[in-house]
Amino acid sequence: MKVTVDQDLCYGSADCVYRVGSVFTTVDGFGAVIPGREDTGDDPRVREAAEQCPSQAISITDGQ
Ligand code: SF4
Repeated sequence: MKVTVDQDLCYGSADCVYRVGSVFTTVDGFGAVIPGREDTGDDPRVREAAEQCPSQAISITDGQ
């Protein structure tokens, strides 16, 4: 499963970075997926980060 961050929705709380620093980072003050870590949507911690994102900016999709 593919994880993405919609930077139009993100407001840079960095919660996702604190939760899963191996997958998320910040770029110019907004959340982003670390390059090469886009296929981590099956990780329960990534799913939790998506559920807990205060702006619902994190999406997990099948990559289609
Ligand atoms: S938790 Fe959500 S709002 Fe906060 S930095 Fe991550 S994607 Fe952005």
